[in-house]
Amino acid sequence: MPAIVLVGAQWGDEGKGKVTDLLAGRVGYVVRYSGGNNAGHTVITPDGQKYALHLMPSGALSPNTVIVIGNGVVVDPKVLLDEIDGLAERGVDVSRLLISGDAHLIMPHHRALDRVVERYLGSARIGTTGRGIGPAYGDKVARIGIRAQDLLDPGILRQKLELVLREKNQVLVKVYNRKALDAGAVVQEYLAYAQRLRPYIADTRTVLWRALERGEAVLMEGAQATMLDLDHGTYPFVTSSNPTAAGACVGTGIPPTAISRVIGVTKAYTTRVGSGPFPTELFDELGARLRRIGDEYGTTTGRERRCGWFDAVVARYAVRLNGITDLVVTKLDVLSGLDKVPICVGYEIDGRRVDEMPMTQTALHHARPVYEELDGWLADLSKARTEADLPAAARRYVERIEELSGTRVSVVGVGPGRDENVVRHDLLP
Ligand code: GDP
Repeated sequence: MPAIVLVGAQWGDEGKGKVTDLLAGRVGYVVRYSGGNNAGHTVITPDGQKYALHLMPSGALSPNTVIVIGNGVVVDPKVLLDEIDGLAERGVDVSRLLISGDAHLIMPHHRALDRVVERYLGSARIGTTGRGIGPAYGDKVARIGIRAQDLLDPGILRQKLELVLREKNQVLVKVYNRKALDAGAVVQEYLAYAQRLRPYIADTRTVLWRALERGEAVLMEGAQATMLDLDHGTYPFVTSSNPTAAGACVGTGIPPTAISRVIGVTKAYTTRVGSGPFPTELFDELGARLRRIGDEYGTTTGRERRCGWFDAVVARYAVRLNGITDLVVTKLDVLSGLDKVPICVGYEIDGRRVDEMPMTQTALHHARPVYEELDGWLADLSKARTEADLPAAARRYVERIEELSGTRVSVVGVGPGRDENVVRHDLLP
């Protein structure tokens, strides 16, 4: 069995949990490859228990799945320990967790800087979660990061931290008028985390290679989504890592040739949180309707999500960029009851028709959607389990997404419940 990548095909919150539910128990390993505790997914177990996870890979609740935090993830040790404790309290065994020794750690200076820098950007702010993720990736690139493996050597930890705080404290105090951080206190705090995290820190690269060599299935799980990719998304309104499929290789050490499937998840419409361009955004009652029926509010923040129609330019871009072999279209049920359902098939930019994602950010800001109107349907879809159960117009809508995006739609979500899906093709090879 090969490696399978799971990516969000839009701006996040596509309902990736649906896919991990469908694959739960069928893969031996689930590995997170990017982002930090800015992600969030809700897992509902077969007995109806609800778990909110931020850092832990989604396989955490499948007792036979090894869960891995890859080298591409940035780890806030306190958040991770809280999640471990929360799961343990509810009787979930997390001894199957492995953390890459190369994963970078989020340190107190990252959180402190994240908050003050956003404040200084004013209206140009990116809308980060303020959890230190961007600054931690910044230090990784600047080669002054502190990694999970540094927790295993108190001398090295102290040395690296003292060095980095020499500069960070200057910035905190002199630029932002904040208090300096005390290196000794931070070392003590992190050594306490080290005590507890030591058993989980491993050479995950080799563990994953061996699993693949034994023929086990490895699910590489992305956080955030394609349009938030640092290199390929709507920069600068993006996340600070690479959630796209190529990032899965970098963030785990699994080679591209081991990947046999890339599953992309997209809603039947579009949402976005935070700032940045969003061509099909609706500002009227229809947008409010999508938000209300789709329950489009942030899971942790409660913030309203921006809502709009399905954007096939984005879908096509995501398919080509990630090499998506299977699309999962979630929340088709939210579109029920509309007379007509528009799909954005291209953009008009400064009087010209464009079918691809424009090269410049300015052009994307000017993009006006060109819509094709499909017939709507009235029926409640939530009982549909096969394609034949869907009204003809809903089937046609899915087929049109398939044609426009350039890849097959394998699963269609028809309700929030974990089994509320129409499965057209099995997601496992
Ligand atoms: P993620 O951020 O991409 O991991 O998204 P989640 O898996 O947390 O899903 C977001 C929400 O969408 C959850 O509350 C799901 O119950 C809901 N959801 C997922 N699929 C569907 C669907 O097909 N229809 C409806 N109505 N809700 C869905």
